Amino acid sequence: MQDSKFISRRSFVKFTGAAALGASIIKYGDDLMTVGEARADETPRPQTPDEALKKLMAGNERFVNSLKKSPRRTVEVREQVALGQTPFAAILACADSRVAPEIIFDQGLGDLFVVRVAGNIVNTANYGIVGSLEYGALALGAQVIMVLGHSRCGAVSSAIEAVEKGTEFPGAIDDIVYSIGPAVAAAKDEPGDLLDNATVANVNIGVDTLNGSVRVLADRVREGKLKIVGAVYDLFTGEVKIVA
Ligand SMILES: [Zn+2]
Repeated sequence: MQDSKFISRRSFVKFTGAAALGASIIKYGDDLMTVGEARADETPRPQTPDEALKKLMAGNERFVNSLKKSPRRTVEVREQVALGQTPFAAILACADSRVAPEIIFDQGLGDLFVVRVAGNIVNTANYGIVGSLEYGALALGAQVIMVLGHSRCGAVSSAIEAVEKGTEFPGAIDDIVYSIGPAVAAAKDEPGDLLDNATVANVNIGVDTLNGSVRVLADRVREGKLKIVGAVYDLFTGEVKIVA
């Protein structure tokens, strides 16, 4: 049955009644979509880094405009990706509960290889962060690595507090805050809002570090197989803006 290719068998069976009445409408996430719309959303895997970035940003545009399709979340896709994953993008995002990449980029199962850590820091001394991003790009073939900061980030504002007031934080939180210090220093003389500027500076430092200090990634960028970009997510508007 052709229409069941991208729609779960269960959903199809459930809505067979509606289809039989001539309304080929399915329940997909919170929305009702026609079968044609649901299928059109299952775009093929991008072939180049530019296509991968475009797919990512198109998903964010859907999210911003409340047109999200919640693609690739069917039983069939789940079973398909269980056999192997080929995510087209790797995202290093903040651990913040409001910045979930699959939601804000409107992507599905197996699409994004996500690494999350408070302050989206790129710390080359932390093999977990850099090694995971390397794995996403080299082993799984992600064509874009995005370092994603966000507005009103608690980790960045704590780093500002540490620099300005000498505040110390308990445990390993202090290590995270300390590692964002260079971004605060880079932004402190810029005009405008220090938190916004330090957030962008922190993303820039992350991108520069991955491009410059992580040789296996830099090689892949040179070969045109990978793009490393930086972006900032706005908690209010839902918009992701490329900054690096
Ligand atoms: Zn944050």
